[in-house]
Amino acid sequence: MSTNNISLELIGSHSKSALLSLPHEKLKEWIVEKKQPQHRLAQIRQWVLLKRCMAFSEMSDLPKSLRDDLANAFALYSETIEVHKIAEDDTRKLILKLEDGNRIECVLMKEESRRTVCISTQVGCAMGCVFCASGIDGVVRNLKGYEILEQMILARNLLSENERLSHVVVMGMGEPMANLDNLLEALETACSPKGLGLSARHITISTVGLPAKIKQLGDAGKQYHLAVSLHAPNDEIRSRIVPTNAKIGINDVLEAADYFQDVTGRQVTFEYILLGGINDQNDHARELADLLRRRKAHVNLIPFNRVQGLPFQRPEQESVQEFVKILKAAGQTVTIRKRKGADIDAACGQLRRAREQKLKND
Ligand code: SAH
Repeated sequence: MSTNNISLELIGSHSKSALLSLPHEKLKEWIVEKKQPQHRLAQIRQWVLLKRCMAFSEMSDLPKSLRDDLANAFALYSETIEVHKIAEDDTRKLILKLEDGNRIECVLMKEESRRTVCISTQVGCAMGCVFCASGIDGVVRNLKGYEILEQMILARNLLSENERLSHVVVMGMGEPMANLDNLLEALETACSPKGLGLSARHITISTVGLPAKIKQLGDAGKQYHLAVSLHAPNDEIRSRIVPTNAKIGINDVLEAADYFQDVTGRQVTFEYILLGGINDQNDHARELADLLRRRKAHVNLIPFNRVQGLPFQRPEQESVQEFVKILKAAGQTVTIRKRKGADIDAACGQLRRAREQKLKND
């Protein structure tokens, strides 16, 4: 009996469409039905996109009856914050529950005046990179455009009034290029002055490297920053740790990155995970420097973040320093990714996995 009640309740709470999931025309029709003037639409949008509203009742320039009607008809957001962890460095890690019960991760980071949200584009991931927690159980589905946008809104709404969301990194769960249309739709609103007002130049899309999609993104004529997860200096190592490489190959990935750089004028970043003993030796650094020699590239080294159950090691501190030295001597610009929120499982996909395993065992 009690189980029945719970499931009915869940169905009930999920049966309302979320506001941002509605096509503009649908909401327009609804407003007409309620005999309200059209400018209500813009007011409602402003509350959600600009004014950090978390309940229909806060929409104080709408008549009380309209606020009630909205609350009866719609959910304000499709996603709910199920877990909110705060790390010692004030990194916030969220597990968001979706309408269909799936879970995704989203991280809010603070660094000087920057406020950066790391968002997901899929539930799980199909790419199968051997060091990554997000792909261990494969992909469940693509996120809708509004589900991608809501992550930015919900994270932004956690900031204090005098803080503004400044940067977005598409580096959470999933392969953004495998869900490019929905991502572009969400980013369009994020970058609109009537949306979240972000600058396209402050948005970084990280990809495993799907050449056709990288070119499509280049052709989209936006100023988004592209980061390519290269992770190896040759096809033999790359295919071992990034399985999609076996049918693509480094050459095509680099050629697509060059195309992106040519058409957008924006420098591409190459991400390179350092896995102790696998791709972090001096020879690998030299080979990488050769590969990138004629490119004006930026290399971002990411020392492996341990994932429970995976056999990889963090690189030795000295090999990281040597790696940097060799690349710099060859004229590359190099940075090492800072570790944020290490005490709260903030690396890609780990918190969701821990949560789902806990729920399974309870
Ligand atoms: N699918 C996208 C986004 C993945 S997450 C991509 O492949 O780029 C962003 C970066 O974190 C990627 O470079 C990814 O390879 C890397 N990453 C994943 N798991 C990691 C781990 N355990 N330690 C360090 N970096 C990791």
